[in-house]
Amino acid sequence: MGIETALPTDMVLTTQLQKVLNWARRSSVWPMPFATACCGIELMATASSRFDLARFGAEVMRFSPRQADLMIVAGRVSIKMMPVLQRIYQQMAEPKWVLSMGACASTGGVFDTYAVVQGIDQFIPVDVYVPGCPPRPETLMEGIMTIQQYIDQDRLVTKDGKRRPLQVAIEPTHAVASQPVELTVNASR
Ligand code: SF4
Repeated sequence: MGIETALPTDMVLTTQLQKVLNWARRSSVWPMPFATACCGIELMATASSRFDLARFGAEVMRFSPRQADLMIVAGRVSIKMMPVLQRIYQQMAEPKWVLSMGACASTGGVFDTYAVVQGIDQFIPVDVYVPGCPPRPETLMEGIMTIQQYIDQDRLVTKDGKRRPLQVAIEPTHAVASQPVELTVNASR
């Protein structure tokens, strides 16, 4: 990491245990991808070399809930699938976080049907919502970084020992490009 070159090797550093724990947790978030549809492709791209989620220490996707602490739900979830999602969430060890990626996971998206869950937060606690259809990798990264910021600030565990969901919605920070070609609508048709 380069720290050893900046500090004398016989130096003693003092800090708070909670800060060290938070630093370790936020620097090694292991996501559990629950990707069911097109948002999953963007999730895969986020871990690729072009976007390089490893820069934030969160690239180690785990397909076992017992080894993961961040569930990323990417895509629509059907009513039949929800018990499986709940089971996986319960199997993840504390502390754990949930990120709802895309319109379908957060609201059902365009699939306003009896078979699709209209927002996973009706069944599991969601910490961060990432909007878009699909969200770009940069937006997903911002969601993951938001979770890291909250881990840093240690606001997660309340006095009764239970953590409440953060319920943060990310707003895209990139400016939307203007329409490259002028569009005209022929009203006579
Ligand atoms: S939000 Fe859009 S991109 Fe994502 S799963 Fe739904 S339809 Fe696909």
